[in-house]
Amino acid sequence: PAQTQLGLMNRDELVAERTEQQTNYDALKARGLTLDLTRGKPSPEQLDLANELLSLPGDGNFTDASGTDCRNYGGLTGLPELREIFGELLNVPASNLYAAGNASLELMHDLVVYSLLHGNPDSPRPWSAEPVVRFLCPSPGYDRHFAICERMGIEMIPVGIGPDGPDVREIAQLAGSDPTIKGMWAVPNYSNPTGAVFSEDVVRALVDMPTAAPDFRLFWDNAYAVHPLIEDFAPSIDVLGLARDAGNPNRPFVFASTSKITFAGAGVSFLGSSTDNLDWYTKHLAIRSIGPDKLNQLRHVRFFGDADGVRAHMAKHRDILAPKFALVQQILDDRLGASKVASWTDPKGGYFVSLDVMDGTAARTIALAKDAGIALTAAGSAFPYKKDPDDRNIRLAPSFPSLDEVEASMDGVATCVLLAATEKLLAEQ
Ligand code: PMP
Repeated sequence: PAQTQLGLMNRDELVAERTEQQTNYDALKARGLTLDLTRGKPSPEQLDLANELLSLPGDGNFTDASGTDCRNYGGLTGLPELREIFGELLNVPASNLYAAGNASLELMHDLVVYSLLHGNPDSPRPWSAEPVVRFLCPSPGYDRHFAICERMGIEMIPVGIGPDGPDVREIAQLAGSDPTIKGMWAVPNYSNPTGAVFSEDVVRALVDMPTAAPDFRLFWDNAYAVHPLIEDFAPSIDVLGLARDAGNPNRPFVFASTSKITFAGAGVSFLGSSTDNLDWYTKHLAIRSIGPDKLNQLRHVRFFGDADGVRAHMAKHRDILAPKFALVQQILDDRLGASKVASWTDPKGGYFVSLDVMDGTAARTIALAKDAGIALTAAGSAFPYKKDPDDRNIRLAPSFPSLDEVEASMDGVATCVLLAATEKLLAEQ
């Protein structure tokens, strides 16, 4: 490992360093690895934690507490018992929380589409009738949020994000002056990919700020609401209550799901919002669907029992995930700490570590890793239009691989980071 800061080395030292890193890299390639750190998927071991669901709700068991026959059509708002459980966890009143289908991304997509086609309750006209529609995108952020905007022709404006959340001064200035800015993406707890947890001050600023567009919406994606890697939960802040108190009750659309609680492909999603927004949503939803999969919702009710059941279940995930995240930190510290060519987040929850390498070397690092059999998320993925202005960010997703695979792939990534940095420094000399 590089024991001194690469940036302080003279040419001879850099040449020697490059030789060493090239040797390391050749050895890495010779191992013929096939490893994948690209997507934030639960591991098979995590999925196994919920295998009881495969035999729930069980023979002859299809009626919820209110007597609804879950085998039949209907019940657009979802099962009341499940809404109670997740209402408590998400800090949203159950009356303002719908339980829906298997993926919250579909809800986000629907809400954008309905807004474009019809406008939301505060829109003077459908968004698609506006000459231009823009969204604020804290970056690095979640690539699939940005993909929705890109596909729909919504222009994306990147804004900065730190450990306590996005830059609210910049956001207030932009949203306050530009009426084409209709929305903003936000992942308030353990953001994808930086692990940021929005502070209460940040949340208050976002719901308080005047916006030039009357129909501005916060797409509040609380995907990692109950996913800490440490014992302490970062609480879900009552964004709907704060928005109501600030006089902007319709501003937040809250999303969540059990994708990383039970089964990523067969969980339950949630939408929380003001009554006005939900009435508007229901009007359009009722054309799209006759009702969600209530049997899946029922088996989730039976599996969890109550909110504490979810918390206890998440502790089991934590026991599997925390050692992987600790290993990522340890390897990055050991291999890259002294060289000072990279920095990275040490998230307290969620599914990602955000690694910033030397400016201008992320794409090269990712290409080197690929040639050595280590798949990393494509360069720029966490930015609008996949354009990382500094070519420095790499999103690491250590949840799916085994501990051994995390170790091998992170060690390999560190080698690629050092080789790419040394090459760049030499080229600049
Ligand atoms: N939001 C965020 C921030 C995510 O990271 C993910 C999954 N990677 C999702 C949403 C997807 O959620 P769902 O499975 O409910 O569609």
